[in-house]
Amino acid sequence: MQFSEKILSLTAEAEEKLADIFAEIDRISFENTKKIMDSFREHRVSEAVFNPTSGYGYNDRGRELLDEIWADVMGAEAAFVRHSIVNGTQALTIGLFGLLRPGDILFSIAGKPYDTLDEVIGNTGTAGNGSLRDFGVEYRQSELAPDGSFDLEKIRQVLTDEGERVKVVFIQRSKGYLNRKTLSVADIGEVIKFVKAIKSDVYVVVDNCYGEFTETREPCAVGADMIIGSLIKNPGGGMAESGGYIAGSARAVELASYRLTSVGCGLEVGATLGQNKSLYKGLFYAPHTTAQAIKTAHLAAYIFGERGLGFDVEPRWDEPRYDIIQSIITHSPDALCAICRGIQAGSPIDSYVTPEPWEMPGYGDKVIMAAGAFTQGSSIELSADGPLREPYTAYLQGGLTYESGKIGIMSAAEETLACGFGSK
Ligand SMILES: *Cc1c(COP(=O)(O)O)cnc(C)c1O
Repeated sequence: MQFSEKILSLTAEAEEKLADIFAEIDRISFENTKKIMDSFREHRVSEAVFNPTSGYGYNDRGRELLDEIWADVMGAEAAFVRHSIVNGTQALTIGLFGLLRPGDILFSIAGKPYDTLDEVIGNTGTAGNGSLRDFGVEYRQSELAPDGSFDLEKIRQVLTDEGERVKVVFIQRSKGYLNRKTLSVADIGEVIKFVKAIKSDVYVVVDNCYGEFTETREPCAVGADMIIGSLIKNPGGGMAESGGYIAGSARAVELASYRLTSVGCGLEVGATLGQNKSLYKGLFYAPHTTAQAIKTAHLAAYIFGERGLGFDVEPRWDEPRYDIIQSIITHSPDALCAICRGIQAGSPIDSYVTPEPWEMPGYGDKVIMAAGAFTQGSSIELSADGPLREPYTAYLQGGLTYESGKIGIMSAAEETLACGFGSK
């Protein structure tokens, strides 16, 4: 791979300007690594816990211990983490169906949830497929203001007028596929305080995808009753082959566990089939890998932003980050596709293929996805994607190592310039 003088010098300039920010990212990674290692030590993790179980998976000490460690690290009373949860969407589905009952209201207070939840909630899709709506669960939503603040008046109104029936208040931490701000743990804590002052017995559920280990505490530390995420994002550290987790209050996690397996069985069963080691190792790596991805995101913001190629980017290069996602707003389907092609060409795996937009299951618009990952669909590995709709935003995330992430971003910048987009 050959890089132009232009891109080489822009990258060098970016790294010089980012030095202090990178040092702070390393500090957060150190604190989170220490928290995880302390928990491993307290729980006396030994090589024996990596032993596989089969069948029912009774008495899988490795599974039970990892659940305890996960709760500890997430600042929660309880947790479960399973390689057999296929993705974040399934983990979220388990959590929501675990808590909600016919007649209840699910109230999303950070705008529209992630696209794949539309059919789970029943806002789109075929009636009768078994969505929450099919089971008599109603849905309400309040929007985030452009500056990321909550609509407190609307939240108060729904909780007051329909408070009896609101069982779950739902907050998506990361921006996902939306042009909005990602919420910090402090932001989430403030709104939880507001919500609980109006209705103390509501379950606050946080979609924690992409947020884990970007700060030194998780939303359970500020009162979330349940947090949910995917192991092929931050907390799998690039090591977990698949999986998801739920952490939170003992009762909320218990209710979710009955949807994970069956009412009664809960967390007593679940063979780990030799996957324990990659889950432990993934958690061990997660703060470091997340730090690599955040550095890659800062670099992308600098190179594609006002000092580089001149696109609108969110967040800006010098803004604090609460997830690993970098948005590049292109206003052009061709520029979006060029960025994705460049990321693909700068990937370790499948670097020779060309990504094309396609109708992806669970998503409303066509989506283009670039990913040259060791694990299929892993977005803690460098990847770029975006729905083919205005304003044609490329969402970049991941980078198992900063070095490889940097190569991917430089490749994307070269392809973008070569296709006639971007200034400089
Ligand atoms: C990735 C993600 C999900 C779940 O997506 P999967 O592809 O099913 O893992 C949910 N919410 C947010 C905010 C996400 O980023």
